[in-house]
Amino acid sequence: MIVLDGKATSAAIKDEIAVEVEKLKSAGKKVPHLAAILVGNDGASQTYVNAKVKACEKVGFESTLVDLPANTTEADLLKTIDDLNNNPEIDGFIVQLPLPEHIDEDKVTLRVAPEKDVDGFHPENVGRMSLGLPTFLPATPNGVMEMLGRYNIETSGKHCVVIGRSNIVGTPMSILMSRNSNPGNATVTLTHSRTSNLKEVCLSADIIIVALGKPNFLTGDMVKEGAVVVDVGIHRIEDSTKKSGFRLVGDVNYEEVAAKCSAISPVPGGVGPMTIASLLQNTLKAIKSK
Ligand code: NAP
Repeated sequence: MIVLDGKATSAAIKDEIAVEVEKLKSAGKKVPHLAAILVGNDGASQTYVNAKVKACEKVGFESTLVDLPANTTEADLLKTIDDLNNNPEIDGFIVQLPLPEHIDEDKVTLRVAPEKDVDGFHPENVGRMSLGLPTFLPATPNGVMEMLGRYNIETSGKHCVVIGRSNIVGTPMSILMSRNSNPGNATVTLTHSRTSNLKEVCLSADIIIVALGKPNFLTGDMVKEGAVVVDVGIHRIEDSTKKSGFRLVGDVNYEEVAAKCSAISPVPGGVGPMTIASLLQNTLKAIKSK
């Protein structure tokens, strides 16, 4: 059984990016500059944003964290986005989700200039992805594709089941896996909360990509022998034995499922680090496409 090591794979990608940054520097060019907007004090969001900023430092990017209070108005957030859209120093930026309830996420997504939308959430970029045109691919699904590619997981002609149809993970994941590309060329079944025979569907899958947001949901009896399982889920579970007071688990019951798989991504150290690597790749793309 192969463990799809997202930590090691993302480290390799970061090394490749660092080489590209050095090339830009030696040519006297500007280094990529990523900005992140964080609204409020959600602990998990703070952790993710800090990891993104740290990753920028590691590869030699510049980074800016715009830390806004939880009571920031929608209008003020949109103004901050406009400022970043118009700032020539900033090559790409993200708005960390989720946002406080009084802010309309759709309005925010639409406001980010598509050429700086390194999360790949803007409808223009989603449309380009769907048509197979050059664009910023959404970070998490693209991170999964990179992981499958770098581990030479055969996807062509395989049955891939995606669990979860969110705009940021499940739906783009299903599009990327079904594209005429490598990885890709899979026969994809996109499942969701109304899927009535999920266990049966999963048992026919060669590849299962799990992104529904329920801890330990995918159990051993839902997976056929030799399947490849990618766990996108990430949850903080209280654990008094840990210094932090919590531990991280995914949407997959790792012990049960790993026993049946040919390859599986762990949590932590799987898709999470790949998402960050993907964001850095998009930011490098943003500056190179100028
Ligand atoms: P989301 O927006 O809450 O969407 C969850 C999806 O799962 C929905 O489409 C929902 O169906 C479906 N679902 C819920 N219960 C189900 C069930 N019993 N059977 C089948 N499908 C079910 O979640 P998300 O933003 O995609 O995130 C999913 C997970 O990935 C979360 O744990 C999140 O923290 C994690 N995540 C990780 C990363 C990373 O970098 N590692 C990045 C993003 C997200 P309906 O559409 O019918 O409601």
